[in-house]
Amino acid sequence: MPRTDLSPGERLYLREAVRGMGVLARHFWKNLFGFRDPAPEVMERKGRGVNLVSTINYPEERKEYPPGYRGMHRLVPRLDGKPRCVACYMCATACPAQCIYIEAGEYEEEAIEKYPVRFEIDELRCIVCGFCVEACPKDAIRMDTGTHAPAVLSRPLAVFDKESLLRGPAVEHSTDVLTYRVPLKTPPR
Ligand code: SF4
Ligand code: SF4
Repeated sequence: MPRTDLSPGERLYLREAVRGMGVLARHFWKNLFGFRDPAPEVMERKGRGVNLVSTINYPEERKEYPPGYRGMHRLVPRLDGKPRCVACYMCATACPAQCIYIEAGEYEEEAIEKYPVRFEIDELRCIVCGFCVEACPKDAIRMDTGTHAPAVLSRPLAVFDKESLLRGPAVEHSTDVLTYRVPLKTPPR
């Protein structure tokens, strides 16, 4: 797009700053004295200290995230409970924050050749871009948990290992069998 030069007035940002203050003041006074959000979930708020201003009293009140929300990662399990991940490093390579750490191992008598011995994600470094999910050729990592990374009291607690990431419903694609060397052994139900 062609760049347009700002006028001297725009360069000062004074007019925009004053307009912004006006918007802020309008919402403040409306919230304080006048308009109340008519949404039922706001009108039904009860209890001490509860008001009808349309904000969420987090963490007591929580809204569900929309379906496309990029939440906490999970390593997707196969039907036999093991990770779908084949330790190809594509996600770690694509990650712009370099917050995925993988150590690959080899199955000896398994249908699938490689697996992650270690798979760690530093959720504090993660910028939630979703590139890892896009890069994965095995649908082995998803951000569909519907939760966000929890607050932690020290950095190491934000590093999630394979055991804590491996969760959620198992996924099997019809094309998976094409990549198995021998049929998968699924556990008896
Ligand atoms: S969401 Fe982005 S920053 Fe976070 S682990 Fe995936 S690729 Fe890295
Ligand atoms: S999660 Fe996917 S992209 Fe990352 S190492 Fe495993 S198979 Fe490869």
